[in-house]
Amino acid sequence: MLCRVIEDIIYLMGSIFKCRFIFFCVLLVLFSVTSRAQDNPDNGTTDNSMFTVCIDPGHPSEVSDGMTVQNGVTENHINWIFALELKEVLEDEGVNVVLTKTEEDEYVTNRERAEIANENEADLFFRIHCDTFTDPDVRGMTFYYPDRQGTWEEEIGPPEEIIPDCERAANTIHDVAMEELDGLLNDRGVRTDNETYVGNRQGGALRGSILSRVPVCLVELCFLSSPDDVDVITDDDYRREIARAVGKGIIEFVAGATS
Ligand SMILES: [Zn+2]
Repeated sequence: MLCRVIEDIIYLMGSIFKCRFIFFCVLLVLFSVTSRAQDNPDNGTTDNSMFTVCIDPGHPSEVSDGMTVQNGVTENHINWIFALELKEVLEDEGVNVVLTKTEEDEYVTNRERAEIANENEADLFFRIHCDTFTDPDVRGMTFYYPDRQGTWEEEIGPPEEIIPDCERAANTIHDVAMEELDGLLNDRGVRTDNETYVGNRQGGALRGSILSRVPVCLVELCFLSSPDDVDVITDDDYRREIARAVGKGIIEFVAGATS
């Protein structure tokens, strides 16, 4: 009799243990499912690998070689090193990057540059240039976008349907970059291609904009005619800070464009 009682107790304890074991297993499975859901990039956050940005370091092209030395630097060199740093910033965030040149002094026409962006179906064709002016006190960063179609060599562009995206790209990148840079460069705002001398003569759009079939905007990083701006853009830490700020704005634009 005593043996049967002990057997019953052992059986009962075994059942309780089995129940607890199953309960524990269920808890473990639930925990792993929820923690995996939090790690999943599709779960509320954006997977940047779906985006392609075409970075265009301006010059040498049929317009100019960009090799004029101002305050010890050339536009071609600044555009190139900034483009490489911006590429690294974007790639670190998972964005696909295509460059329009493979080396600093490579000659690429404006048509070829736009075709690279178009063939890669870039989410953004981002053109990098630096300004110059007769007054060395004029400084700062300016963004340009096409607000209308222009004509060059009988070609009309950009397509009407991408013009709102061009405007949104310029505004988003400008706003994010200026907030991040907090006065490091003067804010010369967002302007239209039509406000440039060349753009105005081509019906209101720059050549790169006319030939682009994807959203396009252009940054004039700073004025190389300003010794103060050149001090900023030739400082490795400052320039990388500018690349990070511009890159953050680009990601905000491309991520917003598809959501
Ligand atoms: Zn330029």
